[in-house]
Amino acid sequence: MKRVLILGGGFGGVATAHRLKQKLAEEDEIILIDRRPNFMVGFRKTWAMTGMSSLEEGQRPLADLSRIGIQVIQDTVTLIDPAAKAVEVGGKRMEADALVVALGAQLVPDAVPGLAMHALNVYDPQEIPGVAQALSEFEGGKMVIGVFGMPYKCPPAPYEMALLASEFFKSRKLQVDIEVFTPQPMTLPILGQASCDDFEGRLAEHGVLFLPNHKATAVEPGEVVFATGRRSYDLLLAVPPHQPPAIVRESRLVGSSGWVGVKPHTLETEFPGVYAIGDVVHIAMANGKPLPKAGVFAEAMGEVVADRLAAEFAGQEPEAEFKGEGGCYLEVGGGEAMKLQGSFLVEPAPEAVLLEASPRYLQEKHAFETQRLDTWFA
Ligand SMILES: Cc1cc2nc3c(=O)[nH]c(=O)nc-3n(C[C@H](O)[C@H](O)[C@H](O)COP(=O)(O)OP(=O)(O)OC[C@H]3O[C@@H](n4cnc5c(N)ncnc54)[C@H](O)[C@@H]3O)c2cc1C
Repeated sequence: MKRVLILGGGFGGVATAHRLKQKLAEEDEIILIDRRPNFMVGFRKTWAMTGMSSLEEGQRPLADLSRIGIQVIQDTVTLIDPAAKAVEVGGKRMEADALVVALGAQLVPDAVPGLAMHALNVYDPQEIPGVAQALSEFEGGKMVIGVFGMPYKCPPAPYEMALLASEFFKSRKLQVDIEVFTPQPMTLPILGQASCDDFEGRLAEHGVLFLPNHKATAVEPGEVVFATGRRSYDLLLAVPPHQPPAIVRESRLVGSSGWVGVKPHTLETEFPGVYAIGDVVHIAMANGKPLPKAGVFAEAMGEVVADRLAAEFAGQEPEAEFKGEGGCYLEVGGGEAMKLQGSFLVEPAPEAVLLEASPRYLQEKHAFETQRLDTWFA
């Protein structure tokens, strides 16, 4: 009998558990540990803050995975011992034949002085009801969305939030100036300058002012402070800096990138039998930039790890490889979405395109969520 411990029940962890259940023998143990009771896709937050839908409609209890024979422990992992393929959960030590670390990225609003006090964190589900209330009570003025650190998950999300907030305010006939700032030189560098110029033109058409090369150093009441000056706000929405969770940073898994280093195609860490997937890893693309943090990649990585483990346990040579292919949807309002898709680990440079907005891509985005919830939690 084999035992696999999966740390984290987000995109990566759930995809791994589900695929393992299809591939391993009945007696093998698949144990998934998460402190949260529910799974939810990331873009639910954008729909909930603009009143399009609720967070709850897209949540599914992780405990439902136990119906198909996955053991679910709702608790906090307090220690990872990768050399022993062991963890501590609820004061108890657990050992395994393989560990899959899928603990995501931790948001660190305190990394920027004043951020936690003056801004609303749009990446934290717990703050979304407050964001929704702030938007619905906003009486006009300047709303700023700030990217406060790199890397951050789902690079298109802040721009999607700006476009949907713009539509939301227009439907209420409110005069709101919207700005989005980022430390990056362009909106979505993976696309290259020309495509970013087009997309930034679209933002401008919707009245969204884009501010590249803006690294915030502090937030004060009514003003964001940058190395180059200050900008005012009436309502500030923040994408805080990200880092690996503390137990990962303390575990010897973190490399010089500040994230968990893995072999890009197999997701193996330097510790035998220990894999890491999703937002917690750093994978360098051929252009030296990190692979974007996205649920589609976390899911694909989880499936590759599951396939490799199944082969290994069966005494076969593992062949599954993570290829870095995938896409996501960027809602632009008016019932349409654009689609960003690409092949991110090809040589000599990643390839990605942003496909023109259409109602079809918005339907695909809805289906993306429904399919996963139905497949994993039905
Ligand atoms: C607004 C927004 C929109 C997005 N839109 C998209 C999109 O359209 N497409 C897309 O592909 N991606 C999107 N993403 C990104 C996507 O949500 C993440 O990339 C994805 O969730 C990463 O999966 P993961 O499994 O690595 O981590 P997560 O899904 O974050 O899961 C990590 C899990 O680990 C648990 N955990 C952490 N520490 C502990 C501990 N010590 N003990 C126990 N449990 C712990 C957490 O509770 C969490 O459930 C979006 C993100 C946001 C914020």
